[in-house]
Amino acid sequence: MASVRKPITPKPVRMRDKVLVMLEERCKGDQCQLCVSFCPKNVLCLTDKYNRKGYHPVTACDIDACTNCQFCELICPDMAIYLADRDEAEKVFKSHGLEEGTKIPELENDAAKEGGTD
Ligand code: SF4
Ligand code: SF4
Repeated sequence: MASVRKPITPKPVRMRDKVLVMLEERCKGDQCQLCVSFCPKNVLCLTDKYNRKGYHPVTACDIDACTNCQFCELICPDMAIYLADRDEAEKVFKSHGLEEGTKIPELENDAAKEGGTD
């Protein structure tokens, strides 16, 4: 009898170990776009707003597609995007302890769904 391969199922989004963190004020956005170009899942895009440097910083347009591959973190020349431990990030996020300009799209989306933010 032929052996049967188990189906390869992607990890459910909320079971990923890490969350994507973006430091808006460090990002050179439209003058760089390295992470946007190299993300294999097209997760990233630019915001319309300006940061203090006058750039449009990067954001996540499709955070649910992120595979935690870490390409963006490795390629960013300004350390403006990285993956952080989910539990640690959740603690800081829920205690409102994030520094200004720090974005965690996945947690922001969750909070919005729960009615915590707009
Ligand atoms: S970790 Fe990988 S999939 Fe997720 S945003 Fe970065 S490059 Fe894209
Ligand atoms: S690689 Fe870094 S500096 Fe460049 S757009 Fe992405 S987050 Fe911003």
